[in-house]
Amino acid sequence: MMLPDPKKLDFKELPNVRGSYKKHLIMAPYTWFRVGGAAAAVFRPQDHQDLSQFLLQNSEEVPVTIIGAASNILIRDGGIPGVVIKLGKNFASINFKSNSVRIGAALPNSIAARLALKEGYSGLEFLSGIPGTIGGGLRMNAGAYGKEVKDILIEAEVIDGTGNIKVLSPEEMAMSYRHCGVPKDYIFLSGLFKIVKDVPSDIQKRLDEIKARRVESQPITERTGGSTFKNPRGYKAWELIEAAGCRGLSMGGAMVSERHCNFLVNTGKANATDLESLGNLVQQKVRDATGIELEWEIKLLGLHKDSNLKSENMKL
Ligand SMILES: Cc1cc2nc3c(=O)[nH]c(=O)nc-3n(C[C@H](O)[C@H](O)[C@H](O)COP(=O)(O)OP(=O)(O)OC[C@H]3O[C@@H](n4cnc5c(N)ncnc54)[C@H](O)[C@@H]3O)c2cc1C
Repeated sequence: MMLPDPKKLDFKELPNVRGSYKKHLIMAPYTWFRVGGAAAAVFRPQDHQDLSQFLLQNSEEVPVTIIGAASNILIRDGGIPGVVIKLGKNFASINFKSNSVRIGAALPNSIAARLALKEGYSGLEFLSGIPGTIGGGLRMNAGAYGKEVKDILIEAEVIDGTGNIKVLSPEEMAMSYRHCGVPKDYIFLSGLFKIVKDVPSDIQKRLDEIKARRVESQPITERTGGSTFKNPRGYKAWELIEAAGCRGLSMGGAMVSERHCNFLVNTGKANATDLESLGNLVQQKVRDATGIELEWEIKLLGLHKDSNLKSENMKL
C-alpha cells in the first residue's frame, strides 16, 4: 500500500467532521520526548458520534493513529502519514457510582486520582504518578508499585475501526504486563473501574508516598518516554542495562538517564533518530553482555526521516 506523504495528504480525501483537523502539524511539542516530525493531519473529534462517522467514512488508504498524552511514544522525524486522532475534553468525563467510576479515555490519570481522593475513593492511587491518559493506560495496561490497570478494570468502552461502539470485559481484552490484546485499530472511549470508599487522609498519604518515590527514582522533570524496555521475565530491564554499562551512555542529544537507566532522555537537542539509535545500541549491548533480548515498551511511530520505510508499529 502506498502511504500518504505527511506533507501531501489532500484534505478533500478526509471525511466531513464537526470536530477539527490541523494539517501538517509538527508533533514534537505534543510529546513527552519533544521530538518527532509532522502528522499529515491531527483530528480532534467533537464527540463519540463525530469520531464514529469519521471512522466509518475514512478511506482505508489513510492510516489512523490514536495518541493520548504521548508519554510512551517516540514519533520518528519523518512524521506520521495519515490522521492522528487526539481526544479532547468531551472524552474526559468522570462519573462516580458506589464502588465504581467511569472515566473518559482522554482524562489524565493524575486528575482521575485527584478527583477520586476528593470523593473519598481509593483504588486509583497507583495511577497518580503515571503521566498518561486513561485511554493510554488501557492500551498499555499501565502499572506501578504492584498494581496495573487490569486489576481495577470492570469493562471498557471501545470504538472499532469502522465506528461501532462496543463494551469489552477484561477477559475479552486479554491484558498482561504492558500489553492489551484488543485489536490495534480499536480506540478506547472510557473505562469502568473498581474503587472503594476510604479515609481521605489515608488516600492522601498513599498519594504522597507515590510522589516521593517517583521524585527520588525517575527523571520526571526531563524529556523522557518512561520505561524504554519491558522487564524480561525474571529480570529488571534497568539491571540488565546497568550490567551492560549503559548508564549515562549518549548519542547525539539522547542519553540513558543517570537517575533511572531504563529511561532515555532528550537532553535538549535530540531528535527521534538519536533516541531510537541509542535505544537500539542499548539493546545490542545488553544482548552482547547477557544474551537477553530487550523488547521496546515505548511505541515507535511513523517514518524515518528521508525514508519511505514503514515502521512495524506505525499503524496502531
Ligand atoms: C516520567 C514517566 C513515567 C512513567 N511511569 C510509568 C509507570 O510507572 N508505569 C507505566 O505503566 N507507564 C509509565 N510511563 C509510560 C506512560 O505514561 C504510560 O504507558 C501511559 O499509560 C501512556 O498513556 P498516554 O496517554 O501517554 O499514551 P500514549 O503515549 O499517547 O500512547 C501509548 C499507546 O497507547 C495508545 N493509545 C493512547 N490512547 C488511546 C486510546 N484512547 N485508545 C486506544 N489506544 C490508545 C497509543 O496509540 C499508543 O500505542 C511513564 C512515562 C513517563 C514519561
